[in-house]
This record gives sequence, structure tokens and C-alpha cells, in this order.
Amino acid sequence: MKKIVILGSTGSIGTQTLEVIDKLGDWEVTGLTASSNIDLLEKQARIYKPGYLFLRNKELAMELQNRLNESGIKVLYGVEGLEYIAGQLEVDLVINALVGAVGLRPTMAALKAGNRLGLANKESLVTGGEIIQDYLNNNHDVILPIDSEHNAIFQLLQGHEQDEVENIILTASGGPFRNYSIEEMKGVTVKEALKHPNWDMGGKITIDSATMMNKGLEVIEAHWLFKQPYDKIKVIVHPESIIHSMVELVDNSIIAELGAPDMRAPIQHVLSFPERGKGNYGKLDLTELEGLSFEAPDFKRFPALKLAYDAGRAGGSFPVVLNAANEVAVEGFLNKCISFNSITKIIERVMEEHNSSERPKLDEIYQIDLWARRMAEEVMDNVVDDY
Ligand code: MG
Repeated sequence: MKKIVILGSTGSIGTQTLEVIDKLGDWEVTGLTASSNIDLLEKQARIYKPGYLFLRNKELAMELQNRLNESGIKVLYGVEGLEYIAGQLEVDLVINALVGAVGLRPTMAALKAGNRLGLANKESLVTGGEIIQDYLNNNHDVILPIDSEHNAIFQLLQGHEQDEVENIILTASGGPFRNYSIEEMKGVTVKEALKHPNWDMGGKITIDSATMMNKGLEVIEAHWLFKQPYDKIKVIVHPESIIHSMVELVDNSIIAELGAPDMRAPIQHVLSFPERGKGNYGKLDLTELEGLSFEAPDFKRFPALKLAYDAGRAGGSFPVVLNAANEVAVEGFLNKCISFNSITKIIERVMEEHNSSERPKLDEIYQIDLWARRMAEEVMDNVVDDY
């Protein structure tokens, strides 16, 4: 039995990872973590009997410890608890399915422990990309990406050298407002923004898909994962989400990875890597397709995508600020404090206020992240919602 830790086990990727494990059968779950969903975590603990659990808040963790009194399972809390579970020795795979910049510390803990990492938390690479890449280079290690686009590119690049790559082409569904004008996007509700046309995902990432910030974060994620300059990372809108991404090679060949949109397919790929098990998900019948379409992304209607390219190209701590401001603004939209179009305005304002720091160290990243959150709160309090 191989040992696995799942960070964020009650979320969309976490629960789907457990589904895949049920099907594959050869994994022992040694750690599960959740932010606050105590009931589901308890249920998972009774089924999978991990050695360690984690809840963010001390009181909740103590309550869960009481509930599981007889089991011998330890419930941890706080930042150190999360790092401890990710950095346990002799774990074969750590799945980081946390949402937000909070994922960076456990990503580093897993890597430093020599644990293979399956990464669904794109914010780890957005905020700490340079540090993570340095670490991987020094240790001849790789990260297995779960994000469907990056998982596709990872597969496509097997057997190709870096200098054979002309462009990495990330596909984007365009989200629920693909055909909306800026004017029409003014009045959209949380409910409308949470309705993704193709993918069933958590709340934060679904809003990010609607603004296209998700694709922007993925551009930065791809830059660090595949060591390509931003000029060679392109985005193309592909509403059907059948092609999960493409790689254009220097001889003009474009290679693509296709499948029905189902996150359990890339999860199974990561769990089985380097082998390939029989597929249980995402089977595609090409004759059933009504066609595949493509369009250029519209940076005017989706300014978040441009902001992300700008932050990525500027480098230093700009992506940290982009991400932190986005997390606060999305939360603000979900709580109905601001309008949809204000999300990007807030991020832009916070980025204007920032003096970037070159090659920030981990501690500096956490400080800048905090600064950007406070600044975003401040901007949000003063936002006049006329856009
Ligand atoms: Mg994705």
C-alpha cells in the first residue's frame, strides 16, 4: 500500500481524490485536512482512518478530537499543524488541494520532506514560484500538476525538450460570461457567476473562472512549472473544454490532450504516475462532439487576465499581491459587498500601491501577502460601485 496525504480533503478536488482512491484501492490515507468542515472530515476519518487530521481553528480541532476519542487519530490545528502533516516522512504522495496562498507553506513542507507533490493549489506557484523552482532545480524533483490544463501540458511535454517548445497554449472555457459585454457584467449576481458551463468546482475558483483570473493564475503557474517565458504562454478560449491544453512545437506541430471535462481523470493520472492505469473517468466519444471552437481572449472585457500577465512579467512580489488582492475581492463579491466588475478594479488599485520586492524570501512573501490583503480590504471599504 502506498501512503497518501490529502490537504483540503473536504473540498471539490479533495473529495474527488478520495473517490479515485476508492476505485484504485491501493492507497493508505495517512492524513486529511479541512479548513472548517468538521462533520465531513469526521466522516472521512471514520472511513479512511488516517493517523492525522487537521482543522484550521483550535476549538474545532479539539471538538473533533473529542468526537474521535477512542480512535487514536491525532487532530492538529494552526499553520504548524498543516506543515507537519504535509511534511510527514515516508509519504508517497501529498495532494495539495487547498484554496489560496495558504497552500504555499505546506507545499514547501512536502517538498522539503522529499514527498512527491500532486499540486492542485495553483496559488503555491503564483506566490512562491521562484522559491519552489529553485528548490526543484537543486533537488532534481518535479511537481505533478492536477490542474487540468497543466496536467495536459505535463503529459504533452513527456519526450520533448524545452527548446522544442514554441508555445504553451492554455485553453479557457471563457466562463459563464464569455459573451457578456462589460455593461452586462455590471449587474451579474453571485448565483450567475457560480454557474460554470463545463466544470463543477469550488466557489472561489468558479468566480475566478468567471473573471478569467483563474486563467491568469494558470499562466503564472505554467511559467514556473514548465520554465517558459510569458511570451510563449498563450491563452485561447475553447468553450467546449474538450481540449485541456496544447503545446505548439518549433516545427509548427500542435499537440493536444483531449478528454471529457472530469477532474477525476487528471487526479487518476497523478495517482498512477509514472504508470497509466485503466481510465475510469473522462472517456470521450469523438463522434458525439458537435465541433470544437476557438477564439482569442478579450483582455478588455476580462482585464483580470491582463493584470495577471502584467504581474507575472513584472515578477518579484507582484504575483503575490495580485493573488492576495484577488482572494479578498472574490470573498467580497461572494459576500455581496462589491459588484462583479469591482473585483478586478480592486486588484488593480492594490497593485498600483505596491513597491515590488525582487526575489522575495518566504517570510517576505507572507508579509507582502498580508499587506496586500489589508490594502484590498481598505480599497474595498471605499469602493464606489458604479462600474
Ligand atoms: Mg484549470
